[in-house]
Amino acid sequence: SAIVPPAPCRAEIDLDAVEHNARVLVRHAAGARVMAVVKADAYGHGAVPVSLAALRGGATALGVTTIAEALELRSAGIDAEILAWLYQASDDVRAAVEAGIDLAIPSPAHLDTVLEAARRTGRRARVTPKLDTGLNRSGILLEDWPNILERLVAATAGGLVEVTGLMAHFAHADDPGNPVIDQQVARLHECVAQARARGLECPVNHHANSAATLTRPQDAFEMVRPGIALYGLDPVGNLGADLVPAMTFSADVLMVKRLAQGEGVSYGHTWHAPHDTTVALIAAGYADGVWRLLSGRLDVEIGGRRYPNVGRVCMDQFVVDLGSDAGTTVRAGDTAVLFGTGAYGGPTAAEWADELGTIHYEVVTAVRGRASRNHV
Ligand code: PLP
Repeated sequence: SAIVPPAPCRAEIDLDAVEHNARVLVRHAAGARVMAVVKADAYGHGAVPVSLAALRGGATALGVTTIAEALELRSAGIDAEILAWLYQASDDVRAAVEAGIDLAIPSPAHLDTVLEAARRTGRRARVTPKLDTGLNRSGILLEDWPNILERLVAATAGGLVEVTGLMAHFAHADDPGNPVIDQQVARLHECVAQARARGLECPVNHHANSAATLTRPQDAFEMVRPGIALYGLDPVGNLGADLVPAMTFSADVLMVKRLAQGEGVSYGHTWHAPHDTTVALIAAGYADGVWRLLSGRLDVEIGGRRYPNVGRVCMDQFVVDLGSDAGTTVRAGDTAVLFGTGAYGGPTAAEWADELGTIHYEVVTAVRGRASRNHV
């Protein structure tokens, strides 16, 4: 029989870490509920297993972007509340209403869409008006809110919708002292008060992402909506919360060879051996999520030691310098950690993000290509 060799590089997802991080977030939420944000395939970690781990850790709702993502979770047998917040007002959302998915309402046209689906399915739609309190991305403009509120009051009385609560999203949550945060919180409070004054209970309102959950528990409303912290990554960088990175990206050492002083390595020979040395070939490249921009700025951890990448990162592989010590113990078949928990001094997704001038969100969601994903 044909045996296919295993993937040369792997994203290993520690579901105990996800569960632990969910528990940490529940603790920080100080009585508010936790909606685990598992959009974009749980930030590249695998939506279904991560959702189950987050629910084990005490999250009681799941947040996703698209209706397809929400339905994938429902189809997997997850019966927790699931909220989807990005769809076209022209979409047919009947399947979501029938599956009991909570739908955000980010514009008057979206309310039309959901009311139509409720009428046609005969199901009461669960809706979460999404207010634009200042991010100026998606969300109901405050000037449109009074009119939408009246329509929601009527639709509630008519049995077409149940308003679960209001939501909004921060622009500056990673800068906890920023006054725009206070302004956004005040605006959501005002909208909730207006809704309640019109007889809508709005039991579960939410504004906070990970950074706000960890730094501004007083602004939790009745629920928080953390994503990145669930994956063990510090949203601000210096919070010192007890989070454990859930993803370890590693690759095989394919071969180890001696290199004479002066020899150039990889395309363009951007690096020459300053002395006789030993190099190792690592089985992951830019097609798998190792940015070529990291060429010469990337370390791997093998057997508890860090080794620098030398020469250009290629599509499928890159080279690390093991040093002039001919007695290196690194062998073909060893595992090189590209980023992970930082154990044994190994590199982290945050370190990659710093080198790339981006955020760790982009690093973990970029692992792809030949990388397998294993949940442990
Ligand atoms: N809520 C909304 C609407 C989002 O778009 C996101 C992600 O960007 C989150 C919550 C979670 O944010 P974070 O991953 O920073 O916790």
